[in-house]
Amino acid sequence: MVVPGARQVARLFGRALTLHCPHCGKGPVRESWFRMRHACGNCGRPLERGEPDYFLGAMLFNLVLSELLFAGIFVAVLVLMWPTVPWDGISVGAPVGMAIVPFLLYPVSKLVWLAFDLSFRPERDA
Ligand SMILES: [Zn+2]
Repeated sequence: MVVPGARQVARLFGRALTLHCPHCGKGPVRESWFRMRHACGNCGRPLERGEPDYFLGAMLFNLVLSELLFAGIFVAVLVLMWPTVPWDGISVGAPVGMAIVPFLLYPVSKLVWLAFDLSFRPERDA
């Protein structure tokens, strides 16, 4: 088993972040926004590792990324709008955004989780 180098890892993540297959960089990889294909439509390699709780990591990544996005946007709004911060807008917009963003990031998080996993556990040649 050969662990990929930094350049290969960057390529895996780049492909995943643009909703392409981490293996080949093409697709299709989704049947719909909330449904992944079992295998890449181009290369046929699996988009799951065959473990029952495999995508718990993707869910965790999704929540962490959502929280980081919220924190970044919150700090940016504070810095840009200080001292007239729109607290009323933030008190409404922040919870709505926190509820919507995980759904928007759902397919990205699954593919990034696969790229992350492939970075540490590359596929074995059969
Ligand atoms: Zn592929």
